[in-house]
Amino acid sequence: MDKMRLLTPGPTPLPEEVRLTLAMDMVHHRKPGFTALLGEIQKDLQWLFETSQPVISLASSGSGAMTAAVTNLFKKGDQVLIIEGGKFGERWGNIASTYGIDTGIISVPWGKPITIGHIETALRQYPKVKGILVQASETSTGVLHPIKEIAEYLREKDILLVVDGISAVGISPLPMDKWGIDCLLTGSQKGLMLPPGLSFISLSERAWKRVEENRPREFYFNLLGERDKILKNSQTLFTPPINLLMGLHTCLGLFRQQGMENVFRRQWALTQMVRTAATAMGLTLLAEDHYTWGLTSIKLPEGVDGQAVLSCCAERYGIILAGGQDSLKGRIVRFGHMGHVDYGDVLAGIMALMHSIAACDGEVKTDNVLEQAMAAYEKASDEGYPEDFA
Ligand SMILES: *Cc1c(COP(=O)(O)O)cnc(C)c1O
Repeated sequence: MDKMRLLTPGPTPLPEEVRLTLAMDMVHHRKPGFTALLGEIQKDLQWLFETSQPVISLASSGSGAMTAAVTNLFKKGDQVLIIEGGKFGERWGNIASTYGIDTGIISVPWGKPITIGHIETALRQYPKVKGILVQASETSTGVLHPIKEIAEYLREKDILLVVDGISAVGISPLPMDKWGIDCLLTGSQKGLMLPPGLSFISLSERAWKRVEENRPREFYFNLLGERDKILKNSQTLFTPPINLLMGLHTCLGLFRQQGMENVFRRQWALTQMVRTAATAMGLTLLAEDHYTWGLTSIKLPEGVDGQAVLSCCAERYGIILAGGQDSLKGRIVRFGHMGHVDYGDVLAGIMALMHSIAACDGEVKTDNVLEQAMAAYEKASDEGYPEDFA
């Protein structure tokens, strides 16, 4: 049996150090040893988010933190703008509607980023907007939205910028305080190289003021309560997922050892590697200029059954890739390269994809593809990522 390689945009493979930590026995979460660990984790999370504000850990998948953002920052009847350029943009809309929040939707074609022009037009149509809800990286399409520009545009306005960074934090730069993001959140199973089950959320000073004014009726996702616990004695309101937090401590230690610049550099280089390979195969990329660094969406040749390609990759080569969702179902492959993935995994993934498309009667070039991919990886590793990519 071949080794299975998980190249999906979440969950992602676990480093051995993290797996060993996860296997450890339980400790008690209110005792000094664990409180000290939570204190260290808090410092590391603030370092990761690049913020001076507390970062709250919640026992939930990423959508739990999205829900917490909506219910704590907005009240029934408030108006928000949703940037909807994919599945996860839609999720913002679904969560907000569930809580009776009035949603203005800006639809962006799947594969394209939002522009400031779009936002300006929408704000004329929806003048009472209290927040803009967006993905840093739209995982269903592989697009990177221009968060830095949006934050600059909103700086002087009384509108909160709420960013789902689930497939961006720990993958590409997203400095919360420097850019002026009001709410940044992520999950454990993508860039953070952990199993699913933890989410993280941090708020700016003005976002906290909004929560204090709102006095949200929240029992479990009670961000004010969680903040008080952190500030008082590094604790959590409820029993936390103890082993996941121990794994997180290990993962953040690995990030510290490497330095985030180097983590981002590798993610960038892997992205260049997959994009070069797809082009060399004669295939088209879904996200053209503004692309995320954790996955690459590749359009399949006309008439090729995407599901058959994915099955072939898995069965013949042990390579697990993701497909498209909704209107993109069967038409694209989403090649994940986030977290604990290296050039060797990606090389195997490219080879499997190339041969699987050919096996499904798709037209694909195979000459020199792996060499070109490897050359792109080495070049991008040497040169590093562009400073102004957003
Ligand atoms: C994975 C993902 C989610 C969903 O997270 P869950 O952990 O499945 O709740 C939301 N937004 C983005 C951008 C994601 O990549």
